[in-house]
Amino acid sequence: MATSYPVYLSINGGGGTPPLHETVQISPDLSLDEVRSVLYAAAGLAETSKNADTDRVLRLSRADGVLLPAGPHIPKNTPETRYNLEIKQHASNSSSLDAAGLGDALDVVTALLDKVTGLKAKVAEAQQAEEQQKKGSDAPASRRVRLPPVSLEKPAKVAFDPAVTEQLKHPTFDIWQWQEPAMADLLAHMFTEFDLLKLYNIEEDTLRRFLECVRASYNSNPFHNFRHCFCVTQMMYGLLHVTNVHEKLTPLEKLTLLIACIGHDLDHPGFNNAYQVNASTELSLVYNDISPLENHHAAVLFTILKSDETNVLKTLSDADYKECRKQIIACILATDMAKHGEIMGRFKGFVEAGFNFDDAAQRSVLLQMITKCADISNEVRPKHVSEPWVDNLLEEFFTQSDREKAEGLPFAPFMDREKVTKSGAQVGFIGFVMIPLFELVGKVLPNMEEHVIAPIRKALEYYKGLSA
Ligand SMILES: [Zn+2]
Repeated sequence: MATSYPVYLSINGGGGTPPLHETVQISPDLSLDEVRSVLYAAAGLAETSKNADTDRVLRLSRADGVLLPAGPHIPKNTPETRYNLEIKQHASNSSSLDAAGLGDALDVVTALLDKVTGLKAKVAEAQQAEEQQKKGSDAPASRRVRLPPVSLEKPAKVAFDPAVTEQLKHPTFDIWQWQEPAMADLLAHMFTEFDLLKLYNIEEDTLRRFLECVRASYNSNPFHNFRHCFCVTQMMYGLLHVTNVHEKLTPLEKLTLLIACIGHDLDHPGFNNAYQVNASTELSLVYNDISPLENHHAAVLFTILKSDETNVLKTLSDADYKECRKQIIACILATDMAKHGEIMGRFKGFVEAGFNFDDAAQRSVLLQMITKCADISNEVRPKHVSEPWVDNLLEEFFTQSDREKAEGLPFAPFMDREKVTKSGAQVGFIGFVMIPLFELVGKVLPNMEEHVIAPIRKALEYYKGLSA
């Protein structure tokens, strides 16, 4: 009989009521359902039925937003480090809903996937609030995708105007016009357009469940959210098309890039690696300070892929799966900017000796470079699309440095609201990081200057003008 221990909670009252402080006793002997019953009871919700988990979405997180397992292994805490407990009760749980009930339907899907994968679902209200904040309510109705009625068994198929799917292949695509469910459908379209569903016998429903689970596993950070995931994947897709390199890549490499970009920031807590290490967070302990975030993103991705329901790689041969997994992990780990110099150096070596597309090691680093480009590509986009991201990133940075100051931790000058100016930050980043990276890739991929590098230079001039 393992001993029980107290877990201190702050329960979101909702509707403007102040959070409620509660203490629950958790024991490793309890089952997942028993722990959830304890958490529901603490929130004043009685166990209503055996299916309570599909009626409610439960989210347990630390103050810094890191999600915690709401099961028998909740880490110990103190009254000073209370966890936030949020429970979303679904108004409707019918299996067939009209378009007006889409939000609820997605919540239910999210809850089901949550159960399947053991991952915590994001609270729908937070998503909607984020959408409102990012875009306001002024998105033209005509540009919104009209979704047909959905049923939980068979996700709705969404058709896009051919003009939209053509535009999707270009870096100028306006990513702000789409809400989250539509972005998931656009991601699904990329798999179809590369013919990957046919080539690998990937079921459309599996792909949609995978994307829905991914969407629910991004947090509503100002910057590192599902829309960033979409932007990075769309830019990778755009780069492949404008450079025609998609004709040189194998289907497995295209599948690798899509999954890597889609999963590259999963469950990002909104605080960077330096914070994880300096604050000795669980992630830094689990990964021994070695790229804790990127390792976590890849681990969450492969946790989602562990479930048959959401495993878009399950029909691959063993050899293909092994190769795909290896390259996906390499691409995600390559997005740690602490590795930037090292990866640039390797690629530069290949370029100087004459890049060889027949060499597997060189192709692998090319995939990493494409992922890196896509990850920091906002300034490739037109100013009205890219500029809001700068404010979002600074908001996330400032939140971190405020917290670091409050906790007495070291903080980086580029995150300090007392020191940073938007134009100064942009001029430095674009000039010293972006342009050298994209120019180096441009030595291997054609058409980069016109479609990709020229817009970056234009952005550099714009921010130089602002700081003058
Ligand atoms: Zn990213």
